[in-house]
Amino acid sequence: MSQSQESVSFADLALRSELLKALADLGYEEPTPIQRESIPPIAAGSDVLGQAATGTGKTAAFALPILQRLAEGDRGVKPVALVLVPTRELAVQVSQAFHRYGRDLGVRVLPIYGGQPIGRQLQALSRGVDVIIATPGRAIDHINRGTLDLGEVTTVVLDEADEMLDMGFVEDIEAILDETSDQRQTVLFSATMPARIAALARRYLRDPVRIEMGRQETTPGEAPKVRQSAYMVARAHKPAALGRILDTESPAAAIVFCRTREEVDQLTETLNGRGYRAEPLHGGMSQDQRDRVMARMRAGTTDLLIATDVAARGLDIDLLTHVVNYNVPSAAEAYVHRIGRVGRAGREGVAITLAEPREHRMLKTIEQTTKQRFTIEKLPTVADLRTRRLEMTRAALQEALVAGDGLEQFRVVVESLGDEFDIVDIALAAVQLAHQSSGNEIDEQEIPDQSDSVSRKPRRDEPERRGGKSAPRSGGGGTVKLFFGLGRRANIRPQDLVGAIANEAGLSGRDIGAIEITDRFSLVEVPAGAADDVISALRNSTVKGKKLTVRRESFAARKRTK
Ligand code: AMP
Repeated sequence: MSQSQESVSFADLALRSELLKALADLGYEEPTPIQRESIPPIAAGSDVLGQAATGTGKTAAFALPILQRLAEGDRGVKPVALVLVPTRELAVQVSQAFHRYGRDLGVRVLPIYGGQPIGRQLQALSRGVDVIIATPGRAIDHINRGTLDLGEVTTVVLDEADEMLDMGFVEDIEAILDETSDQRQTVLFSATMPARIAALARRYLRDPVRIEMGRQETTPGEAPKVRQSAYMVARAHKPAALGRILDTESPAAAIVFCRTREEVDQLTETLNGRGYRAEPLHGGMSQDQRDRVMARMRAGTTDLLIATDVAARGLDIDLLTHVVNYNVPSAAEAYVHRIGRVGRAGREGVAITLAEPREHRMLKTIEQTTKQRFTIEKLPTVADLRTRRLEMTRAALQEALVAGDGLEQFRVVVESLGDEFDIVDIALAAVQLAHQSSGNEIDEQEIPDQSDSVSRKPRRDEPERRGGKSAPRSGGGGTVKLFFGLGRRANIRPQDLVGAIANEAGLSGRDIGAIEITDRFSLVEVPAGAADDVISALRNSTVKGKKLTVRRESFAARKRTK
């Protein structure tokens, strides 16, 4: 990454003022590498084939140029852009992103996905929509009903294309693309580029600009010697998880990297509330303010800096012991940059990364770049914390005993209680009081462990097609078959079942194995460990408007398929 690229701003990308304002309000300080590379060609109308994982900022990389090209003033009823995504969750997230960025443009965005009442979608469609974010199955439903007219779509985005193909959506995608004009612009983003994606791109993209992220490798010796760990944490639990990690690591001086100014401010507040001496550092602060923060850090009155990349660039702090990535960095180079701040002068540094389960692929990219693996750590449990804090109380008591100063005055208390109570019981009560008043008592909720969401098995680039022979691709634990009470007569297709399971139970397309569909029911192979979750998640759900019954396959069901 060259210096000149580093200093590219959103304004340099010639985005319209409404977008620049929205980005500034959100606290985004600069474009991520995928945004720097993708925004200009997409805004210029070129097709783009981008390799980028979740966490790189890829959503804004296509949303901003689409919004950039949105007509001023009154717009028509029919959508001009269509984004296809594999899951309902992503459909909602991408819609929210369009809303946030396009607020001042009055953009009309509609997510359409299975499981949502179709009536509401129909109403919104007839009122007029600019951008549709859809899962392929539901888009096809609408096209077949004649309720979604793609005749005026000028841009189609295939987001997480590899995941959509893994879920068996390839025919749906092709059918949808065939409904749009040949003159359309097509943008394809995928975390991996297996042959099937390349084939899809050859067929539907015209002379695409290719963008590949995270392929630069560090020269040997460049990556500093740092202990690198990662914690898999759902977004909602991140503040608590960070507090707990800091409690166990007890860093002497740490910098915590955040994505936006907002995040910096919020996290600083949270950590101060937890008793840390944390200070914010972001691009919205004057040089003078930043200098003062740095001075307090050097003087040791601050032990945590909460910073954005922009603000931390060029900082020379050689006393840092820990770098914490509150989010997976948007590019592998940014990661290398950040961890270069610890482990200097032969000291061992520690780099800690918090990743959401869906960002696991970005961790792999970073591993390839640094040629070093992350140790996936389990979050300290409430029991771990309790043990550790008791240990702190014990150490404090031991110190007091060794020093012996001023203990004598309490002898009268112990002796008078000794007439009535056992001496050990008196000690226990005294320890309890000391523990409580030292703030070592804990009042914490358990944080769900997500470390299993990173499978260490190498992923096959070319997953098998759905059908009798394919095997589930998730690691270990065996598989079981689930019985679904809908089959061919209800027009059920494999991708409908994969879509429902992925959406409701949060499994990935590649966790799901062989699927058999008979006239009246279907059988789907899932990882044994996930079976109960799938059953309870799908209870009361509907597929194609029909109520779905699901249970473990019984012998009777197996016999009927013969
Ligand atoms: P994505 O890879 O699209 O899922 O984005 C990952 C996260 O990064 C989202 O929470 C975005 O809001 C955030 N984000 C995207 N672009 C930027 C940027 N330029 N600066 C700061 N945060 C960003």
